[in-house]
Amino acid sequence: MSNVDSLDLVIIGGGLAGLTTATLLARSGKTVTLFEQSSKEIGGRARTTVIDGFYFNQGPHALFLTDAGDSVLKEIGIHYTGGIAASKAYLIIGGKKHEVPAEYSRLSGKSNESSGESIDSQFFNSLAKIDFSELENVTVQEWLDKNIHDKNFAEIVKTLVRLNTYGNDPDIQSIGSALRQIYVGSRSGDMYVDGGWQTFVDGLLTAAKNANARIIMGKKATKVKRADPSGWLITLSDKTQVSAKIVVMAAGPKEIYSLFDDNERPEVLSKAAKEAKPIRLVCLDVALSSLPDKDTLFALGIDRPLYFSVHSTHAKLAPEGGALIHVAKYLGTSIEPKPREDQPELEEILDLLQPGWRQVLVKKRPLPNMVVSNALVTAAVGGLAGRPDPKIADNLYVVGDWVGKEGLVSNASFASAKRAAQLILNE
Ligand SMILES: Cc1cc2nc3c(=O)[nH]c(=O)nc-3n(C[C@H](O)[C@H](O)[C@H](O)COP(=O)(O)OP(=O)(O)OC[C@H]3O[C@@H](n4cnc5c(N)ncnc54)[C@H](O)[C@@H]3O)c2cc1C
Repeated sequence: MSNVDSLDLVIIGGGLAGLTTATLLARSGKTVTLFEQSSKEIGGRARTTVIDGFYFNQGPHALFLTDAGDSVLKEIGIHYTGGIAASKAYLIIGGKKHEVPAEYSRLSGKSNESSGESIDSQFFNSLAKIDFSELENVTVQEWLDKNIHDKNFAEIVKTLVRLNTYGNDPDIQSIGSALRQIYVGSRSGDMYVDGGWQTFVDGLLTAAKNANARIIMGKKATKVKRADPSGWLITLSDKTQVSAKIVVMAAGPKEIYSLFDDNERPEVLSKAAKEAKPIRLVCLDVALSSLPDKDTLFALGIDRPLYFSVHSTHAKLAPEGGALIHVAKYLGTSIEPKPREDQPELEEILDLLQPGWRQVLVKKRPLPNMVVSNALVTAAVGGLAGRPDPKIADNLYVVGDWVGKEGLVSNASFASAKRAAQLILNE
């Protein structure tokens, strides 16, 4: 035991959640040590890879403005720029490209005042009057059956749920947080970020280091055990051990679950790991030296769960004249990826929307099975209210996109990091 380093506060994981927690606590005077398993790259799923001047996020990434991420980044002082993701949308139905029907005046961007309020305007206006927390234990499908009687528009709402939450499981997903996200998105928009999400990672890393947080790369936590008289003993991948008064774990629920012996694992962690249904996405990230069709910048599948967007039109992600495109298929929690079929399907979408793309291809990067969120927000557990709080035992906290009562995807990571830091500082 004598060669065990005694640390004050240890954070396991250097994604957005871990880096945010490290920064907030180090700035408040805590002595913070963060261990990241990767020896080369920090930032987890928010990393951006630069290839030939093109900025490849890991699949399509947009920051929902006026949500937790935006406010925490501002609080820390991370400045970022970019463009609001707004382009004329096309729909993909039956393998063909369609204009958004004119009767959906708001979605098609056409004013339709003479024919009265359109069905989509009515829908968006109705969101302002909804108490989203009352819909936490209602599924997307139940809500649609009761409230949207036009079958075609119900498909549009399902598509908006996919776009705003990445969820593709109407029979189990909670509608409350989904409608809230659509509402927030429709009012303030979401941003494609100049230089990609690495801007957030680099900003947080600098802020954490400036506040004297120690960031240690290439060390994976392999075990967490109670230490006497209080605190925790952490075993690292190089077989060394450190003890810590407080531990914050910033990885997925199943990864954290496996760090504990059965008799020491907090019950709330076992429950979260058992219930967590990861939301997955098949991605194809593509860099082109020029854009064949400059009018077709954004499209969503209606009868198939597909996404297409030219991110570089709105943010600095490509060299002059070039284009950075994200194409994706929403797998949700239950569709299995089929790499041999999925990638050709996504390439066909490019053939449809950007014919000639193969002649101007600089780089294509398939990502066959990405975890967008560690846990779909389900109606069965009561929606966001069913997610665990950051504090799971004495001196033991979790943060990430599956934690806390606030936010979806990265906003949950930021919000839970902020809450965990507050709880620790209050104790
Ligand atoms: C394809 C795709 C599209 C997305 N689009 C959006 C979007 O449009 N908007 C949005 O808000 N969010 C989006 N997200 C989600 C967003 O990227 C994540 O919510 C966010 O990056 C999660 O950050 P995190 O720190 O919680 O987790 P992670 O990024 O997963 O970080 C966890 C870190 O912990 C490390 N780690 C794990 N176990 C250990 C261990 N035992 N020891 C040491 N280190 C460990 C990992 O290496 C990793 O660096 C998207 C994600 C994907 C994959």
